[in-house]
Amino acid sequence: MGALILDGSSIAGQIREEIRREALLAGERGIAPFLAVVLVGDDPASVSYVAGKEKALSQAGLRGKTWRLPADTTEGELLALVERLNRDPSVHGILVQFPLPPQIDENAVLQAISPDKDVDGLTPFNLGLLASGRPAFVPCTPQGVLALLQKAGVAIPGSNTVIVGRSGLVGRPLSILLSSKPWNATVTLCHTGTGNLADHTRRADILVAACGVPGFITAEHIKPGAAVIDVGVNRVPDSSKKSGFALAGDVDFAGAREIASVITPVPGGVGPMTITMLLKNTLRAALRQQ
Ligand code: NAP
Repeated sequence: MGALILDGSSIAGQIREEIRREALLAGERGIAPFLAVVLVGDDPASVSYVAGKEKALSQAGLRGKTWRLPADTTEGELLALVERLNRDPSVHGILVQFPLPPQIDENAVLQAISPDKDVDGLTPFNLGLLASGRPAFVPCTPQGVLALLQKAGVAIPGSNTVIVGRSGLVGRPLSILLSSKPWNATVTLCHTGTGNLADHTRRADILVAACGVPGFITAEHIKPGAAVIDVGVNRVPDSSKKSGFALAGDVDFAGAREIASVITPVPGGVGPMTITMLLKNTLRAALRQQ
């Protein structure tokens, strides 16, 4: 029997409806949550992500504006904009879309964002709070993965959870989150220095693929009955599409669904949950700043 396919779009839709209702209540108290998005340059994937965020914001009844800066923006110019947004009391959340052009140090930008407005949860301050077990804003993709596992009724406490990929955006914060109380997973974090990866992944009750390599995780990597969460979003050439590409996850879906108990598709799995958690963090930031 094939795995249960977790419909991230539908689960995200339910959570967005809850957010919309909470935003309405906040509005009655004079609170109008506002997210400032900053996009530098015209990287096609970033442009598409930002468009998705703008649409989700308006559907959830939150306000937002995107500052579109040219690709040759200097680090100083971007830091000055972040500082202005930090000081603006009508702005509750700030999101600078990564990757940034090479002349800009992404760490410098993250450090400049006020932790109170860091709705991506990626500033060193908020990552430090997460690591110390006192999270304020949990990064959106890890939070989305956790919400998916919870909605699917996957038992996290006591599980052997293996994450493939240790980026500061996904794998590392997710490893901290799931190994924290009350989630209590026993987490193994794999990367390119991991020897014999399949020895680790085949012990996983929960396997999260976040390595950015299309179809990298195959049925041979998966323990029968495991929950498989595919974070990967990769553009692969596809001449049958008008755009010339299709989206592919880090998991070989067709093979994996035959052996897993639960699996997320790409697209329509983790992606919509990530945006939803951004909405949730923005609402939270607005309520906290009152
Ligand atoms: P990243 O910064 O490129 O990090 C990739 C990680 O995977 C690194 O830690 C790397 O190890 C590891 N890795 C790569 N190849 C590997 C291999 N052969 N064996 C073991 N580990 C390997 O990527 P990211 O930003 O975390 O994103 C990962 C994927 O998730 C991408 O497809 C991205 O588009 C997608 N993503 C999706 C969402 C969403 O909302 N769905 C959000 C963010 C990212 P080293 O550290 O050793 O180099």
